[in-house]
Amino acid sequence: MRRSLVVGNWKMNGSRSANRELLKQLLSAESSGSDVAVCPPAIYLSEVAEQLGGSSIGWGVQNLSEADSGAYTGEISAAMVADLGCKFAIVGHSERRTLYAETDSLVASKALQASAAGVVPIVCVGETFEQRNAEQTLQVVGRQLRALLEHEQFGELGEWVVAYEPVWAIGTGLTATPAQAQAVHAFIRGELAAVSQSLADKVRILYGGSVKAANAVELFAETDIDGGLVGGASLDGSEFIAICRAAG
Ligand code: PEP
Repeated sequence: MRRSLVVGNWKMNGSRSANRELLKQLLSAESSGSDVAVCPPAIYLSEVAEQLGGSSIGWGVQNLSEADSGAYTGEISAAMVADLGCKFAIVGHSERRTLYAETDSLVASKALQASAAGVVPIVCVGETFEQRNAEQTLQVVGRQLRALLEHEQFGELGEWVVAYEPVWAIGTGLTATPAQAQAVHAFIRGELAAVSQSLADKVRILYGGSVKAANAVELFAETDIDGGLVGGASLDGSEFIAICRAAG
């Protein structure tokens, strides 16, 4: 039985005071019945960790470097992420793939880096609007997933999470219908099962793309949807709490 998971991706939003207020709200409503984590901008991680320490809410990063350490100006290593007590690292978010040209193989390397440091990678996959219209959704998602599944170091990967995030649904207010999302989640589960049934049984597959309190219950009711990766709605305490409860 997979435990549901809801992760808030704050993206490049927040301030020290706004973060404190938001976390205060989340802490007052702890214990939603699902695993919950937030991924703030990295510069706020220490303070977030301090405020969430001792609670059941985890924290993570939105990105990390594929390199170990050294001359990589502006980057954050997996060891640093682990040093700050991060449970999760989002890798391959569509904004990283599109705005920073991250490739499937780079994303796989980042996932392996995170895992080697004891941080659970949340590997994002998803198709664009054009790809969906051209009926290429499964082909694209399959390709993104296989970059990791077929990686020579895949056997070294510990716990990991997949987030199916149709690009056309991210931050647009458009959401995949529960049936559309379930179809892709079932496909992903099948790809995992082709590697091993125990992998398919244990990897949590989150849905992301304009999840809000109003659509979370329906989405999370689908068999292969194990929770959500939530952007915009994670910045609103009561919305995010309602989403976490829907998953629990
Ligand atoms: C995201 O950024 O991962 C996301 C799903 O954003 P939103 O919920 O705002 O669509």
